[in-house]
Amino acid sequence: MSEPKSQRIAVVGAGIVGLSCALHLQRLGARVTMIDRQQPGDVDAASYGNGGVLARCAVVPVATPGILLKAPSMLFSADGPLFLRWSYLPRLLPWLVPYLRSSSRKSVEHIARHLTPLLFDSVDEHRALAQGTDAGRWVRSCEYLYLYESRDAFGRDAFGWGLRREHGFEWDTLQGGAVREFDPALSPKYEFAVVLKDHGMIADPGNYVSDLAKGFAAAGGEVIRANIKQVDTGDDGVVLKTDGDDIEADKVVIAAGAWSHLLAARLGANVPLESERGYHLELVGANKQPSVPVMDAARKFVAAPMNGALRLAGVLEFGGLEAPASNGPPDLLLRGAKAMLPGLEYEAKRTWMGHRPAPVDSLPVIGPAPASRQVYFAYGHHHVGLTAGPKTGRIVAQHVMGLRQNVSLDAYRCDRFS
Ligand SMILES: Cc1cc2nc3c(=O)[nH]c(=O)nc-3n(C[C@H](O)[C@H](O)[C@H](O)COP(=O)(O)OP(=O)(O)OC[C@H]3O[C@@H](n4cnc5c(N)ncnc54)[C@H](O)[C@@H]3O)c2cc1C
Repeated sequence: MSEPKSQRIAVVGAGIVGLSCALHLQRLGARVTMIDRQQPGDVDAASYGNGGVLARCAVVPVATPGILLKAPSMLFSADGPLFLRWSYLPRLLPWLVPYLRSSSRKSVEHIARHLTPLLFDSVDEHRALAQGTDAGRWVRSCEYLYLYESRDAFGRDAFGWGLRREHGFEWDTLQGGAVREFDPALSPKYEFAVVLKDHGMIADPGNYVSDLAKGFAAAGGEVIRANIKQVDTGDDGVVLKTDGDDIEADKVVIAAGAWSHLLAARLGANVPLESERGYHLELVGANKQPSVPVMDAARKFVAAPMNGALRLAGVLEFGGLEAPASNGPPDLLLRGAKAMLPGLEYEAKRTWMGHRPAPVDSLPVIGPAPASRQVYFAYGHHHVGLTAGPKTGRIVAQHVMGLRQNVSLDAYRCDRFS
């Protein structure tokens, strides 16, 4: 008797989410083709330029109660982390209104409840994902520090910290000189710090993704460089239309980050998605850097000691997928870095802009398309895609392969706004 034929699965997108899906599907016995218009780990993907933090505590979204009052100072003050290309505002509004509505206490509690299962075991998930590849060399276990200028400032974030506590996250606090004892490089302006244990980081996100892709290919996975223009479904499977040859498969996973909605809308997904543009500034040869990733809670940027450079990452800019990068955000990050690390000097700097895939309700889209059991979605991971990617990939792979799983996908359904 002949062996049953293994399923042919196409995965669109070779960022951390697509790669996690592809590797887990491969390990469950599928024949997997991963398609991206760029090389895995290249600069267009958010997975290349992020802050590298395995932020398992990041269950609190950006938009929380009171955001409407805080937004003007975030946007208009010289050191505010929010930027807007005003010409984009008319296109942004249909997304912005429900996004702001999702900042209510009840919505934020819902978001935190459903981000927790994707984030809480992130470091272990990354180590498991990297097994059998060279990517494990970039995974670090470490603490993650939130820096405040006073205990009062920490107190003003009590809602978020309460939610984290409710979901099982624990921390120590440091005050005054104890912050400098923890890390002498930090400015004395930080009077208060939260030390989150059992976190982690990826010391070079671009090379990490690239190493995962090499491991996937070495284990028999196919990597195709192509721009997917459309996905057609039929009785016998799916056909992916490209600029060149069609690609056929039994099933497809759409994991194309901030571009996913361009393919997913025709496949039954109605979750409005925007790009929350973010920036990094890398300082090569920096004479100072923190010992672990640190978040400036007021300016909302991360400083991370990366492979060969200090990376400052953050900023939230609305301007869509097409507009070129702006000059303001890297300047802001440099000012923030100098204020964080007194005496900072460096030999060279590099800047980058990327697109966080941001659904209106800050929850990713994970699971099957309503109209077709051949199409699955895995996108919209917003600020936490690096952290949540491997768990998402595990869940999606189990679903696609028809295995039992213990995470309900209801909160992540693509038709949740119907
Ligand atoms: C400045 C910044 C800092 C961040 N810091 C952190 C952090 O510290 N921790 C954290 O957890 N998260 C962080 N994030 C968020 C995280 O980077 C993203 O959520 C995550 O990388 C999204 O991964 P993805 O695979 O969904 O998308 P991407 O990495 O963007 O990958 C999508 C891929 O799809 C491809 N693609 C798209 N459309 C098509 C098509 N039609 N045909 C073929 N290929 C296509 C693209 O080329 C791309 O390679 C940060 C993001 C930014 C911008």
